[in-house]
Amino acid sequence: MMPTQTQTQTQVETKCGPAGSPQTEVHTNTLDDYAEVLGSGEIAELRALAERLKGSSVQMVNSTSVGGGVAEMLNRVVPLMCELELAVKWDVITGGDDFFAITKAFHNALHGEAYDLPEQSFATFLAYTEQNRGRLKFESDFTVIHDPQPAALVEPKPNRKGHWVWRCHIDLSHPNQRVWDFLAPYVSLYDAAIFSSPAFARKLPIPQYLFYPSIDPLSEKNRELDPEYVAEVLNRFQIDSRRPILTQISRFDRLKDPIGVVRAYQIVKRYFDCQLVLAGGGAADDPEGREVLAEVREMAGKDPDIHILDLPPWSALEINALQRASTVIIQKSLREGFGLTVTEGLWKKKPVVASAVGGIPTQIIHKHTGLLTYSVEGTAYQIRFLLSNPAIAQRLGEQGREHVRENFIIVTNVRRYLTMFLHFIKGSRAVAHG
Ligand code: UDP
Repeated sequence: MMPTQTQTQTQVETKCGPAGSPQTEVHTNTLDDYAEVLGSGEIAELRALAERLKGSSVQMVNSTSVGGGVAEMLNRVVPLMCELELAVKWDVITGGDDFFAITKAFHNALHGEAYDLPEQSFATFLAYTEQNRGRLKFESDFTVIHDPQPAALVEPKPNRKGHWVWRCHIDLSHPNQRVWDFLAPYVSLYDAAIFSSPAFARKLPIPQYLFYPSIDPLSEKNRELDPEYVAEVLNRFQIDSRRPILTQISRFDRLKDPIGVVRAYQIVKRYFDCQLVLAGGGAADDPEGREVLAEVREMAGKDPDIHILDLPPWSALEINALQRASTVIIQKSLREGFGLTVTEGLWKKKPVVASAVGGIPTQIIHKHTGLLTYSVEGTAYQIRFLLSNPAIAQRLGEQGREHVRENFIIVTNVRRYLTMFLHFIKGSRAVAHG
């Protein structure tokens, strides 16, 4: 039987898309505003590149419009491409809870965990894929499918229009073989794949591109804030601004190891009168979130200095304020895609202590732009070191911001997409004339 759809949102608000929800940040910044961060030469170069793609249609497809790093980036990349006069559409696939339970298990398995679901789960996944294929139209010059959830939407070559790219945001270096064997034939049908780090890539018969993920320095999540607003947010969540604040912002997900963060805090707490903020929400496509939140609450017990904040998806300003108010930012993930929360912390000149997993070592150059850790004890040790050495903490934060400016700003990400699209066009012309 065909599963029923329980998610209703299918297309996301963009400047060139349909009307949106109150949860979607309205961006008023134009490309020229980014000159203050990157310099005007970078913006002029981007406009020159886009000139050659004017009017081309682009379709982005992923599995959620809010929550998590992919939605965060698409919320910015799409309007910027629209400003450059590309016709961009962003579609979100739909599915029942059973579909998202399967895709969550896929996600964990591709990060290397076991996959215990029955063989039938693959058929269910494909049934939802067909349901989405029936609903979505694929007629763009460039179709970019994000992550495994919609990966099987790809159509075989002679029948499809335009160029198809699979944008993989997760670490595929040690995937569970059963899940990868299922997905790999679909991935091989694309014209290219994009990974966030050379270390994440697989051996594939298609070209592979390296795109670092990125943040928007002018968004609500990252822009400068009035100190009064930061103080108001601390006050609202009853956090004491006079004592050190350790913060991890993450979806409540086991791979983000919130329990490990509480343990590390409990070690640090023996030496420093500090507070812990664990702030996050359950992403719309993550059925495990509530369970993990309950576990973390139990682990925290009655400690009044542990603040567990279950934030709604429209909390960008609050997250910005919490990051800015932090003494140390933690990202103790067991596995990670790129770790945009690390990028956000570094951009705010914060000393970051984070696990050496996924894309984090690309961002944290140990002892230069932050501190890498490998265990609960190591995390506690590095936090204590930073609390004892504020001048070093400040220097790491400042160097971290420059590293982000040079590599992980959204405008650079848009430029990479444009360059890839141009490359495709050039390739097709060469074939046509060949
Ligand atoms: N985030 C958020 N609300 C939350 C938790 C996270 O807005 O409750 C944001 C966070 O600030 C970051 C992104 O979601 O921009 C998370 O991206 P990351 O790459 O760190 O992890 P992912 O969730 O994609 O695994």
